[in-house]
Amino acid sequence: MKGKLYLVATPIGNLEDITMRAVRILQEVDCIAAEDTRHTLKLLNHLNISKPLISYHRHNEEIRIEGLLTELEKGKNIAVVSDAGTPAISDPGEEIVKECIQREIEIIPIPGPCALITGLIASGLSTKEFTFFGFLPLNKKTRAEKLKEIQEETHTVILYEAPHKLQTTLKDLESILGDRKLVLAKELTKIHENFFRGTVKEVQAMVPEPKGEYVILIEGATKSIEDWSKLSIQEQYVMYQKQGLEKKEIIKQIAKNQKVPKNEIYKQFITVEDTEEKA
Ligand code: SAM
Repeated sequence: MKGKLYLVATPIGNLEDITMRAVRILQEVDCIAAEDTRHTLKLLNHLNISKPLISYHRHNEEIRIEGLLTELEKGKNIAVVSDAGTPAISDPGEEIVKECIQREIEIIPIPGPCALITGLIASGLSTKEFTFFGFLPLNKKTRAEKLKEIQEETHTVILYEAPHKLQTTLKDLESILGDRKLVLAKELTKIHENFFRGTVKEVQAMVPEPKGEYVILIEGATKSIEDWSKLSIQEQYVMYQKQGLEKKEIIKQIAKNQKVPKNEIYKQFITVEDTEEKA
C-alpha cells in the first residue's frame, strides 16, 4: 500500500500555534521533509519529537521530489513542513502535491497558521473577497504588470515581502495607490506584533527602518466614475457589499454615483425588498 503525504502547517512565530493534530502527525510519520532542517529541528526539539529529516527546499525541490515519491510509493508516510506557516503558500509543496495527484498518492492537509490569513483577519479591510499576490516579482517588466493588476484589483490585495525590500515595495505602491488604505501586519504572533494602518504615505512614515516580517494588505480599488453608468444600481449594491460596506454606506455611495438624493435610492431598495418579501 502507498504511503500518505501530509502537508503540515507549523507556527509563524508563536510556538503555541501548533495544532494537536499537527503534533500527532509529526510523531506518527516515517520522516519529515523540511525546508530548513535546522529550523525544523528546533520545533521538533520543542515538541520532544525525534524523526528523520530530509531537506526539501526551492533549490533542490526537483531532485528531492523523485526520492520522496519513491518512498511514498514504498508505503512510507511523509510530512512536508516549511520554515513557517502553511506549506505550498509561497513555500515549497505545490510541486510534490501535483506529482502525488498524478501518481494517486493520498494527500492530507493539516491546516494551521498562515501569515496572509492571520494578517487579513485583523487588518480591518474587507475579508469578503481577497486576492493574494505572494511576493512581487523583481523583474522590472513583470513587476510593472503586477503593480497595474494591483491598482485595478477591487478585492483586498495581500502581498508578502522580505524586510530589506519593504521600503522599495512601499515606494512602488505609493505611485499607484493614491489615498487607498494600506495595512502593514508586522511580526504576527510574535512579541513585537504590530499593525500599521493608513495611506501608503502615512504607513511609510510609521516604519522608517523595517525589521522583522511583514504582510502588506491593501484596500481594493473602487471602480472609476466612468464605469458607474455601465452598472445597474443592484450591481453597484452587490459590488459595495462585497467590499464590506454596510447598507447605509452603500446607499450613500450609490446616491453619489447616480447624482441623486439618498432617499431616492433608499426608496428603490425598500420597494425591491418589499417585492422579494411578498414573493
Ligand atoms: N508559508 C508561509 C505562510 O503560510 O504564511 C509563508 C512563507 S513566505 C516564504 C515568508 C513571508 O511570509 C514573509 O516574507 C512575510 O511576508 C510573511 N510572514 C511569515 N511569517 C510572518 C509573520 N510572523 N509576520 C508577518 N509576516 C510573516
